[in-house]
Amino acid sequence: MNIKETIRSIPGWPIEGVIFRDITTLMQDPEAYRKACDLFYERYKDKGIQKVVGIDARGFVFGAVLAYQLGVGFVPVRKKGKLPWKTIEESYALEYGEAEVEMHEDAIEKGEKVVIIDDLIATGGTIEAAIKLVNSLGGDVVECGFIVELPDLGGRAKTGDTPIYAMCEFE
Ligand code: IMP
Repeated sequence: MNIKETIRSIPGWPIEGVIFRDITTLMQDPEAYRKACDLFYERYKDKGIQKVVGIDARGFVFGAVLAYQLGVGFVPVRKKGKLPWKTIEESYALEYGEAEVEMHEDAIEKGEKVVIIDDLIATGGTIEAAIKLVNSLGGDVVECGFIVELPDLGGRAKTGDTPIYAMCEFE
């Protein structure tokens, strides 16, 4: 069972010139979904992780399962305007467009060991913003985990010393 083969590619969506890698087909395949969740769990179970941060919205689908399996708390990084309590925020450039993300200001304790989960790293803008949010609360980002990396878009360059793990790559 090859996880990469369960991901659907959609040329020209959401804009001309982009090939969108659609992981909903992975999520709706029970074997692939379980395998992806298990790969994250096997990788992070012995790393002393104290919180899982998931990025809106597909990062929630995998991050929440990982938090449950590790027996730790889950923290959402959300698009601006969705969180009800006091937030910290970061703005960043996307592969297509601009965005702002937020996190509750009491979501991470100083010194907490954190893994950040999202479905895909492209230009790295989103994960860079999420790392800044965690760091600004004093959290220690052990690694950022993804299902997919698009290495041609150079996202790793944005994450500095923070390690990146991805289950598969697309050109
Ligand atoms: P980046 O900030 O350029 O690295 O883009 C990554 C963010 O955009 C992630 O939160 C992804 O969910 C989303 N994204 C960008 N391109 C794709 C894609 O081809 N498939 C799925 N999500 C994507």
